[in-house]
Amino acid sequence: MIPHLKSMTQAEIGDVLKQLGQPAFRAKQVYTWLHKGVRSYDEMTNLPKALRDILAEKYPICPPEVIRRQQSQKDGTIKYLWRLSDGNCVETVLMRYHYGNTVCISTEVGCRMGCAFCASTLGGLVRRLEPYEMLDQVLFTQVDSGLPIGHIVLMGIGEPLDNYDNVMRFLELVNSPDGMNISMRHISLSTCGLVPGIDRLAQEKLQLTLSVSLHAPTDEIRNTIMPVNKAYPTEELLEACRRYYATTGRRISFEYAMINGVNDTPEAAKILLKRLKGMGAHMNLIPLNHVEESPLKPSTRQAVQTFQKILEEGGIPATVRRTLGGDIDASCGQLRRNYTKQISQTR
Ligand code: SAH
Repeated sequence: MIPHLKSMTQAEIGDVLKQLGQPAFRAKQVYTWLHKGVRSYDEMTNLPKALRDILAEKYPICPPEVIRRQQSQKDGTIKYLWRLSDGNCVETVLMRYHYGNTVCISTEVGCRMGCAFCASTLGGLVRRLEPYEMLDQVLFTQVDSGLPIGHIVLMGIGEPLDNYDNVMRFLELVNSPDGMNISMRHISLSTCGLVPGIDRLAQEKLQLTLSVSLHAPTDEIRNTIMPVNKAYPTEELLEACRRYYATTGRRISFEYAMINGVNDTPEAAKILLKRLKGMGAHMNLIPLNHVEESPLKPSTRQAVQTFQKILEEGGIPATVRRTLGGDIDASCGQLRRNYTKQISQTR
């Protein structure tokens, strides 16, 4: 496997350079250039040519290529489909919120969690992303769009806690002062509910926001749409969330995709109220994005409003997520899915 300098910390790059006989100050130079999104070592103009050549040979930069760029005419959302150096592709979405530009990045090529409503999981897991491949999505979205990125959500393709070590390294890099220096408070990590991962994350004591994709009030319902629930049933998951809140003091945000006739009844809202009490929960209600291969349909506007009202009146803040980029396949995995389908049809 090729070693990637962009997955290394500044100290690790320092070790590499030391072995090449370089002075200590070069580590910061190389690190800073890499984290500016250069595509070639020749752009590192303050490095000697000989060093640039050695680095290019031993540590190729391998930046992703844009395969598709789609911009929403309605809200300015831009969606990127990237080709990685091994030919696989992943997607990134840039959203323009009032508080700043936010990128939604992928953490894996495909996903093995099997959620019934999600396009990302249809072809299973291909492989996990390296730290630099997550960083590149943020970096090159910023470079390509010319828009400064201040916020990140790990809500694209893949399950971040199923790629734990690489995701932790990515967070360290993107947060580093000589790198993009993006505040942990501006980062959200979303999980389908891998309990051991949540417990491990609690110990890291990061200031990020943990989002948990709950999507159902009971095991009975959750089992039908999220296979992960068989391994970590709702009560175990909620216990882990309570431990997380107790350990970190950080409120948890729950994602809830509203699916017509499945999880959107007033009874479901009432059960949630009981189960989520006292844990600083915040609910994000997301009208389901319809995925062609799935029979599941979004809830009616009326059902969403009633659901929200019950939660709010019961003391759980609930926001209905504005859907951005609806006109450009901008939800989880749809662009990659449509692209790979198209490719296989033309072969
Ligand atoms: N694997 C992680 C993060 C990626 S998915 C997780 O499960 O949380 C990001 C969010 O989008 C999750 O809440 C996921 O359940 C949700 N999602 C996936 N497909 C969706 C769809 N078709 N409509 C609405 N939300 C969807």
